[in-house]
Amino acid sequence: MRLHVVSFGCQMSVADGEELASPLKDRGFTAVAEPDAANAIVLNTCTVRQHAEDKALSLIGRLREWKDKDPERVLIVAGCAAERLGPWIQKRFPYVDLVVGAKSIEDYPRIVEEALGARFDALAETRQGFDGQGAGAGPRTGWASPCSAFVTIMRGCNYSCSYCIVPAVRGRELYRPLDTVLAEARAKVALGAKEITLLGQTVNSWHAADGQRQVFFPELLMRMGGIDGLERLRFESPHPHYVTDDMIAAMVGTPAVCGQLHLPIQSGSDRLLKIMRRSYDSAEILDKTARLRRAMPHVEVSTDIIVGFPSETEEDFERTLDLVRRLRPSWSYTFKYSPREGTESAKMADDVPDAAKEERLQRLNALCDELTEEALSARVGRVVEVLDEQGGFGRTGDGFKISWPETGPAGRVVKVRVIGTGRRVLKGESDERT
Ligand code: SF4
Repeated sequence: MRLHVVSFGCQMSVADGEELASPLKDRGFTAVAEPDAANAIVLNTCTVRQHAEDKALSLIGRLREWKDKDPERVLIVAGCAAERLGPWIQKRFPYVDLVVGAKSIEDYPRIVEEALGARFDALAETRQGFDGQGAGAGPRTGWASPCSAFVTIMRGCNYSCSYCIVPAVRGRELYRPLDTVLAEARAKVALGAKEITLLGQTVNSWHAADGQRQVFFPELLMRMGGIDGLERLRFESPHPHYVTDDMIAAMVGTPAVCGQLHLPIQSGSDRLLKIMRRSYDSAEILDKTARLRRAMPHVEVSTDIIVGFPSETEEDFERTLDLVRRLRPSWSYTFKYSPREGTESAKMADDVPDAAKEERLQRLNALCDELTEEALSARVGRVVEVLDEQGGFGRTGDGFKISWPETGPAGRVVKVRVIGTGRRVLKGESDERT
C-alpha cells in the first residue's frame, strides 16, 4: 500500500501532515512522491490565507480524476480548511472518503481506524513499513530534511488576534506532556536528527506538569539541550509576551539553541496593534529584543509584518517602517492584508485601497530587503558553522541559507567560508581542515 501526503501552509502544517500519515504508516503504507502511484492521499489543508485554502480546494477538485481511475483509492482531507469547511467539502466533493478538522488531530488515529480500518484491511497487500523502516519502527514523521526534524509541542491558540482564523479552527491551546516531547526528540535524534525545531502556534507559551510542579518553556529548552547528539535547537513561532528574561537566559545557557528568534511584530503602530489585539506595543518589542541582543550578541531577529490593515493611515505605516528600522530584522515575511471570513477584522471596513496596500508593501519590502542584504554582506569573509542538510546546502545557526560546493555527506555540522551573496542566500566554500 502506498501513501502520498500533501501539506499546505506553515511548518506546523508540514509536521501535522506527516503525523496524519502515522496511522497509515502503522498499517504498512509506504510513502511515495507521486499521487498516481498512491493508494491513499492525505491532504492537509491550511486556511490562514484565502490563497492557501483555494489551492487546497482546487487540488481536491483535480483529485476526482485520480479517484475515478480506481475507486478503491482513499482520499483523506484534514487540517484547518477541513475544520472550517468540513460539511461543505464533504457535500461539494462526495468522493472524499474522510474529512477530519484540525481540532480532531489528537483523535485522528481513532477516527481513521473507525472510518477506514476495514477498507485498509481489504487493500492490504503488505505490511512493510513507511520509508522502508518496518511498521512501528519509530517516529519517522515530521522531518524538514534527513537531519532536521520537527517536534510539535503545542496546538491551538489562546489569543484572539482580530485578523487570525487560527483560534477558530484549531481551538484553545493544548500542550503535549514533557515526557512525550522529550521522548519524541530523543527518538528523532536516534534516527539521525542533528537539529530539532520545536513547533507551536505560540510555542513559548508551552507548559506542562512534571510531577507536582509546572515546567515552562525555558526549562524545556534546557532539558532539550541535554539530549545527547542534538546539536541544534530552534523553535517557532514564539509570541512576544512569553519572551521573558527566563527564556532569554535559557537560550543563552543552552549551547544547542540557535542564535535566531522569529518574532512576528505585524505593525509598528500601537493604535493598530490594539485593534489587531496583539497584546504588546512597539516599545515592548524593542525592549525585549534589546535585552535578547545584550545577552546573546550574535542573535538574529526575523519577523512578520502586515500592511494595509483596516484603517491603516500613512502615519501608521510610517510607524511600521520606523519600528523595522529600529528592530533591524535580518529576515522579514511581509503580507498585504486581506480579510479572512470568520475573523473579527473581516467585519471591519477593508478601507485601505489596494493600490495603497501595494505601494506600502513595496516600500516595506525595499527596506526589509536592504536590511537582509546588509546582514548577508556582513558575513562575507567569515567562517560559519552550517548544518549540511543536502550535501552542499544548509543553514547557519542564525538562520541564513548557504550553498557551497559539496565536499562530504549531509548531516554534519561543517565550517564554510562565506565568499559572496545571492538573492537571500549566502555562497561559500568549504573551510574544513582535515
Ligand atoms: S497569536 Fe494571534 S496570530 Fe498567532 S495564532 Fe494566535 S491568534 Fe493567530
